[in-house]
Order: sequence, then C-alpha cells, then structure tokens
Amino acid sequence: MMVVNIEQIGKNIYRIPVPIPFPMKYIYCYMVRDADGWSLVDAGFHNTEAIEAWEQVLKQMNVRYEQIHSIYFTHFHPDHFGLAGWMQERTGAKAYISKEDFAMAQRVWGKNSSQAEQIGEMCRKNGTPEDLADEIEESMRSLAKHVTFPELTILEDGEVILGERKWEVIPTPGHSDGHICFYQREERLLLAADHILDKITPNISIWPGSSKNPLGNYISSLEKIQQLQVDLALPAHGAMIERVDDRISEIIQHHQKRLDQIFRLAKDGRTAYDIAQDLFQHKSLNSHQWRFAIAETLSHLEYLVFTGQIKKENRNDIVFYKQNK
Ligand SMILES: [Zn+2]
Repeated sequence: MMVVNIEQIGKNIYRIPVPIPFPMKYIYCYMVRDADGWSLVDAGFHNTEAIEAWEQVLKQMNVRYEQIHSIYFTHFHPDHFGLAGWMQERTGAKAYISKEDFAMAQRVWGKNSSQAEQIGEMCRKNGTPEDLADEIEESMRSLAKHVTFPELTILEDGEVILGERKWEVIPTPGHSDGHICFYQREERLLLAADHILDKITPNISIWPGSSKNPLGNYISSLEKIQQLQVDLALPAHGAMIERVDDRISEIIQHHQKRLDQIFRLAKDGRTAYDIAQDLFQHKSLNSHQWRFAIAETLSHLEYLVFTGQIKKENRNDIVFYKQNK
C-alpha cells in the first residue's frame, strides 16, 4: 500500500482520500481529534481498496480503531455510507445520520430492499428500453453488495462537537433528502460533503421514495449556505473550495441552463429517457451512468412541473412531459 496523502486542515482536522470505483476517484472523509479520541465524517465505499486505505491511514496517523468514538454520515449514498457497518464493527463507534437518510438507508440498503426493482420500474415508466432498464436494475442490485449496515442513531438538528468545537448541523436536502453539512461559525469552515463540489455539479436526482422536487430543495439549500460566512468549504470529492459564493452561483446557473434546455427538448411530449438521450448524446453511458442520467433528467422535469412550465401525461402507462402552453 502506498502512503496515503493525508492533509491537515487547521488544528484538529484531517482530510483523508479513500478510493472509490467512480469517476471522482476518491471520497474525502474527515477525521477530527478531541480529548477523548476521534470522530469520523463519512467512511467510504465497501471494497478492498477502501479497506486497505483505512488500514494504512490509521497506521500513518498512529490511531487505533477503538479510538474512533463517533462516525457522522453526511448522507446515505454508498460512497459515503458503504463502510458504515465495517467501521462500526472495528471501532465500536456510534454512527449518526439524519432521520430522512436513516429512512432512505433502510429502504435502499436494508434487508429485503426492493429499491433496485423499483428503479427498474421507474426507468421503464419513463420510456427506457426494456434491456437497458434490466441492466440498470442489475447494476443497482450489485451496488448493494458494497454496503454493510451499522446500528444507526438519528442525528437531531442542532449542534455536534467535533474537535472540541461546536459545529452546526445544517440540513441541505437536494443531493439526498437528508443530506447535512456541518458549519463551524468562528472559523468559517464548512464540511460540505456533496452539497457543493468544485469541478462537477453534484448529482440531483429523483428516486423511488425520494422527495418529488429534489432540485427545488437543492436550490433552496444552496441559498441557505450563501447566507453563511464561509472561508473554506471541505467537500467530499475534489478540491477544497475558497470561493464558495461564486461556486454556488455557478451551480445555480448550470441548473438554470439545464432547465431551459430540458424545457425546449420536451416540446409536445417526450419521455425522460428520450430527453436524456439528447442531453447526453455525446457520451456513451454504461448502465450505472444511465441510471443517473435518467434520474437527473427527471429531477429537472419534475421541477418544471412544479413551476407549471411543463405538464405530464400518461400514455399506455408511459409518462410523457410536454410544454405547458
Ligand atoms: Zn459522494
């Protein structure tokens, strides 16, 4: 195992790259020290590479698993939450998550989950060809193998103590319904997770069991962060962000452009799959990427339904979206 490039941020915070098998390459988890030991923010995806990285990280930091007393999950997605059970087993730590993502974690990763089938169903209903919908269902099912479930404690709104400082728990629904950021007011630091990323825009999607308007929630959550004084945002993927306000404006503009584009593409009635094909035609997508392409197109279409710009109608059990003129 090569040396892991751990960065120290301020006095007690360490930024830890843990490999993930997705284009972003790493999730950045954060280790925060206090008098009693360590807290962890997010844990990673459950595969061999991530486990090897953690073994190496603890060696480099000279920390034993038992010294980690708390693990906070910013949301339930597998690149953050996959190692939850594994990490809890080794550390004995309490594992915290918001109540919305507690429910989603159970729905998606719990025993007897039917989320993969429901996602397949959602894709078919939105015009996806049968064989692609089957592949999407299968890729979702195989994802569940990379999550081990811990015993979870619901994180109430309010504050947590990390590294002997108070951090405000900021609900930021959008990327997931129960996504949270942590804000340290005196130091103007934000643990941003997947709410604000530097190079790419966070994926905002509709899923079975999720909010009906995640994009609307997301834009409100971005505006909420704009009200805070942030000198440095520590995201879970990619580089740290100093110009948080500008980045938020860019992300809002991106979605505005996407909404205009999707409105135009809907014309007199098209399916989400059909529109996604136009949007992503320059890329050849695998089934995992198609799942996101369809779900992300849907979140924009449903936003436009909320604003009244688009109407939807059922034709033979397939949903068509059309401009509301
Ligand atoms: Zn992530």
